[in-house]
Amino acid sequence: MKGICILGATGSIGVSTLDVVARHPDQYKVVALTANGNIDALFEQCLAYRPEYAVVANPDNVQAFSDKLAGTPIADIRVLAGADALAQVATLDNVDAVMAAIVGAAGLLPTLAAAKAGKTVLLANKEALVMSGQIFMNAVAESGATLLPIDSEHNAIFQCMPAGYTAGHRAKQARRILLTASGGPFRQTPLADLEHVTPEQAVAHPKWDMGRKISVDSATMMNKGLELIEACLLFDMDPDAIQVVIHPQSIIHSMVDYVDGSVLAQMGNPDMRTPIAHAMAWPERFDSGVEPLNIFQVKHMDFEQPDLQRFPCLKLAYQAIKAGGIMPTVLNAANEIAVDAFLNERVRFTDIAKIIERSMARFEPEAADTLEHVLDADRRAREVAETVITELSH
Ligand code: NAD
Ligand code: MG
Repeated sequence: MKGICILGATGSIGVSTLDVVARHPDQYKVVALTANGNIDALFEQCLAYRPEYAVVANPDNVQAFSDKLAGTPIADIRVLAGADALAQVATLDNVDAVMAAIVGAAGLLPTLAAAKAGKTVLLANKEALVMSGQIFMNAVAESGATLLPIDSEHNAIFQCMPAGYTAGHRAKQARRILLTASGGPFRQTPLADLEHVTPEQAVAHPKWDMGRKISVDSATMMNKGLELIEACLLFDMDPDAIQVVIHPQSIIHSMVDYVDGSVLAQMGNPDMRTPIAHAMAWPERFDSGVEPLNIFQVKHMDFEQPDLQRFPCLKLAYQAIKAGGIMPTVLNAANEIAVDAFLNERVRFTDIAKIIERSMARFEPEAADTLEHVLDADRRAREVAETVITELSH
């Protein structure tokens, strides 16, 4: 029996994780669930899964949550509040696996704490890895933590790696990674119309049902940019050895090209329960609840080169990882600010890339050798991005 802590339990990945947990009550016990604001969802999850701990990250919401628990059969759940409590539950002795499914930089410290504590880290929170880079990978190596990718592409790549492969190492005979992308909702939208797309149009992803931030990232293809950096770190690959491939059907989740010409792909229905179940059962496999792939319904699969004029964010991500140092941290922070501004209708869709590009231009690729440097670069980049937004609106 393994104990699992789910950071970001109320989000899209968190809910899918609990769906998989429910299928395997003999193998997984929920030790801790965390949420930020959605205390009603957290309460329902606590009723269904009876964790020992529930963390409300935003302290403003904790009193309302405690009031809800009072007098119910789950009044004995230990309720903790605040960001520090996230790291506390992610490192409990009876937690074996930590699902890192908080969105954005807020997930870094608890995910890093889990890595340092030698836990099995099921990594969905790509922003945490992108912003901390080698610091995170070193923490995994030093503690002996097991790092398993949840992002569907990286999980696919991991599955296509040689037997016995562990994250952070170069698979010598792998010469290229083909990182697939759906192309998002605006793959064929006339370029001139992109300026006017609304948040609602941007979050309506054709293939995947996800949180709002990652949905906007998919529409700009910054999601693929972050995934490019994620792949460089997880698989110790050069950015030039990673080819982004638009594959609108989202049936192939990524591919590895070996020196002998073999190209291995992982396929399946686009449902995050597959990578989640793969990582939770690893190195075994178990049922995820995902329907078997009906290959006859797929009929055909298309592959296109990404258009960098349509998707400038992808180009910025290549620039950031090649420049190195704090630049991926800056890219990620400026993107978080820009996406938030777009979702709040403060800027246009096409401003997102401009904000990131102009923010990056104000930084040098200083070394990102300590966590303090990373957190400082993250903070400064957020300030700079806000300044750029103010400049744009004048
Ligand atoms: P989501 O918005 O649906 O859920 C986010 C979760 O994080 C929620 O539980 C929320 O309460 C919590 N949270 C938000 N801000 C927080 C804060 N400041 N402190 C603590 N908790 C906070 O997001 P999602 O779609 O589930 O994505 C989660 C992560 O997984 C992201 O990093 C995303 O890139 C990655 N991911 C998601 C998918 C997907 O299909 N949804 C696929 C691949 C990777
Ligand atoms: Mg992905």
